[in-house]
Amino acid sequence: MNSKIRFFQSIHFKIALVFALLLLLTLEIVGAVFVRQLEHQNLNTFKSQQVVQTYITNRLSNELAKTNVSGANKQIKSTLSEITNTNNAQIRVIDNKGTIRGTNEADNQGVVGQKTTDSDIKNAIYNNRDVVRTTYNSQNNSRYYTTVTRIIRTQGNNSDLVGVIYMRASLDSVYRNINQITLIYLSATFVAIILGLVMAIIISRAITRPIDEMKKQTLRIARGDYSGHVHVYGNDELGQLASAVNNLSVRVEEAQESTESERRRLDSVMAHMTDGVIATDRRGNVTIINEMGSNFLDTDADDAVGKSILDLLAIRQDYTLRELLEDPDDLVLDFSTKDHDLILQAYFSLIQRESGFISGIVCVLHDVTEQQKIDQDRKQFVSNVSHELRTPLTSVRSYVEALAEGAWKDPKVAPEFLKVTQEETDRMIRMINDLLTLSRMDSGTQKLDLEMVNLNELYNYVLDRFDMILKQDDQPEKTYTIKREFTKRDLWVEIDTDRFTQVLDNLMNNAIKYSPDGGVITCRLLETHNNVMLSVTDQGLGIPRADIPRIFDRFYRVDKARSRAQGGTGLGLAISREVVQMLGGRIWVDSREGRGSTFYISLPYKPYEEEDLWDEDN
Ligand code: ADP
Repeated sequence: MNSKIRFFQSIHFKIALVFALLLLLTLEIVGAVFVRQLEHQNLNTFKSQQVVQTYITNRLSNELAKTNVSGANKQIKSTLSEITNTNNAQIRVIDNKGTIRGTNEADNQGVVGQKTTDSDIKNAIYNNRDVVRTTYNSQNNSRYYTTVTRIIRTQGNNSDLVGVIYMRASLDSVYRNINQITLIYLSATFVAIILGLVMAIIISRAITRPIDEMKKQTLRIARGDYSGHVHVYGNDELGQLASAVNNLSVRVEEAQESTESERRRLDSVMAHMTDGVIATDRRGNVTIINEMGSNFLDTDADDAVGKSILDLLAIRQDYTLRELLEDPDDLVLDFSTKDHDLILQAYFSLIQRESGFISGIVCVLHDVTEQQKIDQDRKQFVSNVSHELRTPLTSVRSYVEALAEGAWKDPKVAPEFLKVTQEETDRMIRMINDLLTLSRMDSGTQKLDLEMVNLNELYNYVLDRFDMILKQDDQPEKTYTIKREFTKRDLWVEIDTDRFTQVLDNLMNNAIKYSPDGGVITCRLLETHNNVMLSVTDQGLGIPRADIPRIFDRFYRVDKARSRAQGGTGLGLAISREVVQMLGGRIWVDSREGRGSTFYISLPYKPYEEEDLWDEDN
């Protein structure tokens, strides 16, 4: 906005100029009429003075009729001296033959008796008519008023031209007079214009000052500064305009404040939303993006603004803006990177005016990574369960079929077949029980039966059981040695004994299952600052590095065939992890392929509780 107006462009100047021009025009017209009138008047007066009275004409006509020329000339001379010659005119009397008979020029009496050479006189005598003429002598720059008046002598019915009176007077005095008056008028005009101009400036200033103030105030309002106030000078149109501007300022301020607070509220809502929001203009270029939106898209709000939403969401290849506008459907967009998964659901809606004109798009981004993952896991789980159950069922059916087809009669084969069928059925039942346990844990219905347990005792009890199994078996499938490295201190920990025993069983079973015959299994129990740590180390196959992060997943097995052959369900470690986590602990594995694995369990432990217990007992 250009608030600087040059002086020549201002209303102030324009009003003054118009005023001055009007004044000039008026004075000019008045002056022209006045001077013209004055000239006319003066000339008329001058001309009316240059008239010979009738009695003089009569006397002259008588004298011209006389035959005694010199006598008549004397008479004429004296008659001429009687003429009132206000205009100081040169007067001559010429008879009808063109001879000058008298003149009033005292120093030029010599011309009397000479023939006239003046064309006006000749013209008057020959054509028998009066001549009136204004002439201009360029030599001395003077105007002359010349009249040639006939002298008629009437006798009876005859009237003869006996001569003419020639009068020539300078008009200089008249024009000098007019010029003087014009000069006075011009100076008066000049003074009037100067005064008028000053007044015009003062008046226009008085008009434009409030306008200027209002202009400044409106500019301030436009800038957002509502502190100013226009001075109201009176109750005329400008005064009313000034109050209107003051009112406007208050209204705009109120409106601005309410929009501003509305905007702040919206901003804070947007900023604290867990969904990303992107708004665009009509062309699909981003105008607003909230913090969550830029977090999701891993961009800066400043960078995103102005970009096309198609580029921002990286969907230019699949969609056009028109498609988004015409059919604003939901889209599922995958923004996963190497480091983290991110799946967003984008909901589009149009910003539409009442007229139907579309002024932009709003896109809401909702994080559905978790949902998608759960969905994916669920599908995977169902497919795993079906697969896991189908394999044993198929084998059971084929054995049963073989038996039905006559194998039952064979005393060698039948018991073998029945044993396998029984084993497979057992495995299925185990799997289903495991699944039920997991499902109970997932739904939170699995309650823990917590009690303070001496972990050394429990661990020893479990390991004793494994030693016993080996001793009782005459021809064990696999032999092993259990080595115990326990802390001497009793470690009392709050656990669910049955569930935890299941975990330990599971680890021990795996250690035996995945170890070669005759391996040593080292079991440790120790205490750290505020944890107890149990570990089971075997000298078995170990787990490939790539599989380590997944072996606690449901149904995940490094070598499916081997696991099944050993009667494994693929759920043991998954259940173990759930149980340990429910107890507030952690389970992990450290393994080198071909060298063996160590499974660790750490449980929270508060050493002072032991003393507390003792205190209570004593
Ligand atoms: P499974 O019933 O198959 O043993 P688990 O959940 O107990 O199921 O174990 C999952 C997989 O982890 C096993 O199939 C096996 O591949 C691997 N695994 C578990 N314990 C050991 C171990 N001590 N040594 C080598 N691999 C192991």
